[in-house]
Amino acid sequence: MNIQDYKGVFVFAQQEDGKLAGVSLELVGKAKELAKDLGTEVTAVVLGSEIRDMAKKLGRYGADNVVLADDPGLKVYMTEPYAHVLTQIIQEKKPEIVLYGATAIGRDLAPRVSARVHTGLTADCTGLEVDPETKNLRMTRPAFGGNIMATIICPEFRPQMATVRPGVMQRIHPAAESSAKVENYKVELPRESFNVEILDIVKKVSDKMDIQDAKILVSGGRGMGCPENFQLLEDLAAAFGGGATVSSSRACVDAGWVEKDRQVGQTGKTVRPDLYIACGISGAIQHLAGMEDSDLIIAINKDEYAPIFEAADYGVVGDVTKILPAFTEQVKRAIAEKNES
Ligand SMILES: Cc1cc2nc3c(=O)[nH]c(=O)nc-3n(C[C@H](O)[C@H](O)[C@H](O)COP(=O)(O)OP(=O)(O)OC[C@H]3O[C@@H](n4cnc5c(N)ncnc54)[C@H](O)[C@@H]3O)c2cc1C
Repeated sequence: MNIQDYKGVFVFAQQEDGKLAGVSLELVGKAKELAKDLGTEVTAVVLGSEIRDMAKKLGRYGADNVVLADDPGLKVYMTEPYAHVLTQIIQEKKPEIVLYGATAIGRDLAPRVSARVHTGLTADCTGLEVDPETKNLRMTRPAFGGNIMATIICPEFRPQMATVRPGVMQRIHPAAESSAKVENYKVELPRESFNVEILDIVKKVSDKMDIQDAKILVSGGRGMGCPENFQLLEDLAAAFGGGATVSSSRACVDAGWVEKDRQVGQTGKTVRPDLYIACGISGAIQHLAGMEDSDLIIAINKDEYAPIFEAADYGVVGDVTKILPAFTEQVKRAIAEKNES
C-alpha cells in the first residue's frame, strides 16, 4: 500500500428514513477542520434510496463533495449491502481518513469495512487532530475504563478510520447555499451473495424526549435511593415547562431503575445541554465524560467532597429528597413570575 495515493477526508453520512443523523453533520464540520490542516477536501458519502435531497444539506454543513449511492437495496440499513458498497467506494476513491458516527449503525458498519479494506479503526474517539509533522490522524479516546486518554495513530495503513459518538463534535454554522459537487455513484449489489433479508420492521416509539435533544437535563444517580424517588426528578423537569427531561448515571441503569437510553456517560450518551442538574451523582470520570461540556452544571450531593462538585458551576450540599421538592417549588414560582411580567 502506498499511503501517498490516499487523499481526502470522507464522512459516512448516515441517514434513516430520509433523515440525516445529527452526528453526520457534526462529523462533516470536524472533517472540514482536518481537511484544512491536510490541504484536502471533505467528501460525504450517503447510502440509501431516494436520497438526492441530502446532498444540499451536507454541502451547507461543510462537505465539498457528496457521493450518493442510491439504490432500492440500500433503503434500509443492512450490514452486508452497506459494507459492500462502502468498501467499493473506499477502494476506488482512496480517502486518507474515513469518519463514522458511533451509532448502532456506525458501530456495526465501521469494523466490517475496516476488515475488508485492511486498515485499523479507533472506536469512540473524543478528539481528532492532524499531527502537524507527520500528517497522521491523532485519534484520542478513553482507555482503561476511562481512567486515561489514549492517542492512537494508524501510520502504515490507509484510510485512517474512527468512530465518534453523537454530541462530541460540534456542527459548524451552516452556509446559506451548498456548493458541493454531487456524484451519483453506480451501485452494483450482488444480491445473491447476501445472507439476510428484511421481512418486517417494527418500531418502538418512546414518548420521552431524547436526552441528547434536551436543553435541560435533570439527572439522577444512586444517591436518589430508589426508583420511586425519580419522580422528584420528573417533577423538577416538568416544572421547567418544556425542553427538560430526566437522565441518569449508569449505576441506576445497572440497578434496573431507569432505561438504558437515559444513561449519560462513557458507555451511555454524550450530552451538552444548557443546564445539567446532577442529583445524587458522585461524578465518576466515566460519567463526567458524557456531560462535562454542558453549559451550566448544578450538583446536589450530601457529600461535600464528591468529585461532581469539581465539575459543577453551582453546588448544593444536602439530601436530594429534601432539596429537590424545594428546588421544584422555586422553579415553578420563578416561571410563574416570568410569565406574569
Ligand atoms: C468501563 C466503564 C464505563 C462506565 N460508563 C459509565 C457511564 O457511561 N455513565 C456513568 O454514569 N457511569 C459509568 N461507569 C460507572 C462509574 O464508574 C460509576 O460507578 C457511576 O457513574 C456511579 O454512579 P453514581 O454516581 O450514580 O453512584 P455512586 O458513585 O454510588 O454515587 C452516589 C452519590 O450520591 C450521593 N448521595 C447518596 N445519598 C444521597 C442523598 N440522599 N442526597 C444527596 N446525595 C446523596 C453520594 O454522596 C455519592 O456521591 C462506567 C464504569 C466503567 C468501569
